Parts: sequence; structure tokens; C-alpha cells
Amino acid sequence: MPYRAGKKGGTLGHVGLPILSVVIGRLMGVSRYRLQPTPAQKAVLAEHCGHARFVWNLAVEQHEHWRPGRKSAPGFAEHCRQLTQARAEFAWLRAGSVIVQQQALKDFAKAITSFFAGTHGKPTWRRRGRSEGFRVVAMRAGDVRRLSRRVGEVRIPKAGWVRFRWSRRVPDGVKSYRVTRDRAGRWHIAFAAIPKPIPAPCTGEVVGVDRGVAVSAALSTGDMLSVPGLREAEKVRLRRLMRKLARAKRGSHRRATVRQAIAKLKARETDRRRDWAEKTSTDLARRFEVIAVEDLKIRNMTRSARGTIAKPGRNVQAKASLNRSILAAGWGQLVERLEHKAPGRVVRVNPAYTSQRCSACGIVDAKARESQAVFRCRSCRYTANADVNAARNIKLAAGHAVSAREGPRVAGPVHREPQPVLLSA
Ligand SMILES: [Zn+2]
Repeated sequence: MPYRAGKKGGTLGHVGLPILSVVIGRLMGVSRYRLQPTPAQKAVLAEHCGHARFVWNLAVEQHEHWRPGRKSAPGFAEHCRQLTQARAEFAWLRAGSVIVQQQALKDFAKAITSFFAGTHGKPTWRRRGRSEGFRVVAMRAGDVRRLSRRVGEVRIPKAGWVRFRWSRRVPDGVKSYRVTRDRAGRWHIAFAAIPKPIPAPCTGEVVGVDRGVAVSAALSTGDMLSVPGLREAEKVRLRRLMRKLARAKRGSHRRATVRQAIAKLKARETDRRRDWAEKTSTDLARRFEVIAVEDLKIRNMTRSARGTIAKPGRNVQAKASLNRSILAAGWGQLVERLEHKAPGRVVRVNPAYTSQRCSACGIVDAKARESQAVFRCRSCRYTANADVNAARNIKLAAGHAVSAREGPRVAGPVHREPQPVLLSA
């Protein structure tokens, strides 16, 4: 079910399409442009990519050796010390940009954090020619400028001023950018601006958001939000292209063409997910004063407390896990944007029992989870979508946390404590 903005305050759903795309463009935290480097600049950019890849792979390798129980794996600070040593040792690394190399380490640290939070897969080796790129931070005012109606330029370390296609306005106050090369050899630049906080509505309204199994997120209001993926026709086309790729001879021109078409479809999917995270986070930040989400760090430790998915066939399972990873990526982006747009208004809640507790009577009942989709309380007969029930519990938990800070609660539902007897049933 596609997400519709609520009547109250949710304006996006009522805006016409042409205006909507402008609105999205403005709200987007990331804007991507086609870079047009000279051949000499391309060589410098490729070198930056090589350095970033080298540093990243070094970090991956060190993590491979680390096992639970051993002394903690090297963190960002330790990696930076090692980078300093490596730069002292290798002239070719020293010749590169320290910003580029340090940011590769920062990206890795972030990837590891996301991995442990369960929103992303384990960071893996980067190979030459695949997902190549580097990040530059601490941009100064004047590092981006417009030359003419269609041409802009940006200052890149060691490469100087590099031109790009001015396809839309560069957001004010950009602080960092990422340069990437796709498999077709085209260069892009994406500027990142931390979006301005959205003022709270001051209604005191709390919303609980649960990371759903079938949808990306469920709200305590009953709304179900799904990340838009590829359309049916696009999925069919993707499958056809994958088969074509399997048949195409290695190194052939045909193979390169098919690859590029696949990359384009995948990019479309990524763009849609990003748009969704932008729109949804803006909408939530506008409608609600407090946004409660589950604390994924805790959740991963208590994963078994949540129901397991009924055992499907092998192929189905592979598909389901792919689907889950797409949902997880959408969720991770949503929470990240929420924290930017509603700073101090996002509350993290311990997710223990949120899927087993009845949000109406408060009883914890492992058997109330009739299926992955339905929650039916055996005590009070309350029935709801399982994800929505969980979202309501998250909202209630956040309410308790807020009221505990503000003093005793006068009104509101009383909830029973979890009953261990039922838990072991
Ligand atoms: Zn109940």
C-alpha cells in the first residue's frame, strides 16, 4: 500500500506532480550532478579512488582478523594512526590527499556501525572498477561556483577546478561531496547538505514507528509506509537483463552495454528509496512532536524475542532476504534523515517485547502473534496488524520515558508488567 500523507499537516499528498518534483528537489539532502573532468583531471580523480579503495580494503582486512572475544577491533582513531604510518612509509600514498584517505576510513567506521546496528550488510572489499569513489569534507564557501547557465565548477583537492553540468541549483551550505565513477566510466558528484531542522508542531503528539517486516515502517496511527522499489515491468526487464549478462561473453561490448543498463535500473531504485526517506522524514517531523523508534542496537541482541518468519522454500527465502535488505536500507535512511530534521525529538526505545505485547491491555503473550502480519490478543481480543501493534507499543514506551522525565502521570492507560509465565509458553 503506498504511503499517503495524513490530512493533518501532511501537504505532500495534495500537491500536483510538477510542483511535487520541485518540492522533492528542494527537500533532498543530496543532489547529484554529472562531472566533466579533463583527461588530466580524470587521472587525478582515478588516483583518489585508488587511494580510498586501498585504505578501505586495509580496514576491511583488519576487521577480518578480529573475532568476538578478542581485544576490540581497531576503531577510527587507531585506523588514523595507522594511516599516518602508512603515509610515512609509502610515497605514492603520501602524494595523495589526506582528506580523501581519512574520509575513506570514516566511511568504513560508519559502515561498521551500520552493520552492527543491523541496517546494513558487512562492509566488503572494494574492487577496481566497481563502486569507485571518494569523499571530500570541510568545503569552504566559494568551493562551488556557477560559470554559466549550464556549467558549474567545484574545487577538488589536487585536481583544481573541475566542471560539472549545472542541472539544478546547488543547495546552500553544502559541506561535503562524494565523487563517484559508474561502471560506464562516467563521473558524478553528489553534494550533501545537512537539512535544516523542521520546527516541531507543538501538539505534544508522539508517534511510534516500527520497522516492519512486510512494509518498511508502520506508524502507531495505523499508517503503513513502504519504500517504492522497481515497478513490475522494470523487474521483468531487470531479470531479462541479468539472463542476458550471464550469456554475454566476458569483455565483450555487448556485456558492457547490458551492465550499464542494469546499473541504470539499480540507480533508479536507489533514487526512489532516497526520495521516499526524504519525503517521509519531512512529513513525520512536521506532524509529530516526538518520534519514537526502536533502538536497533538493543534489538539485535534480542532478535529472538521477535517471531520468526514461517519456513518458506529455498528460492522464496533468497527473495525474501533480498526484500528484507531493501527494507532495511530504506529504514536506515529514514532514521538518519529524521535525526537531521527533528534533532532532539527522536526517542530510541528498547524494543524488547514490542512485538509480543498487546498495545491495548499491556499483556505480553508470545502466542498472540498469529502470523507475521496479524496480532490477536488472547486476553482482551484486541486485533491489529502486527507491525502497527508494535508501533503502538513503541509510542507507549516513549510516552513513559517522557512522562518519567516530567513527573508523575495523572491520566492515561495503565499497563501491566510482562508476565514471565506467558513468555515461556
Ligand atoms: Zn490485550
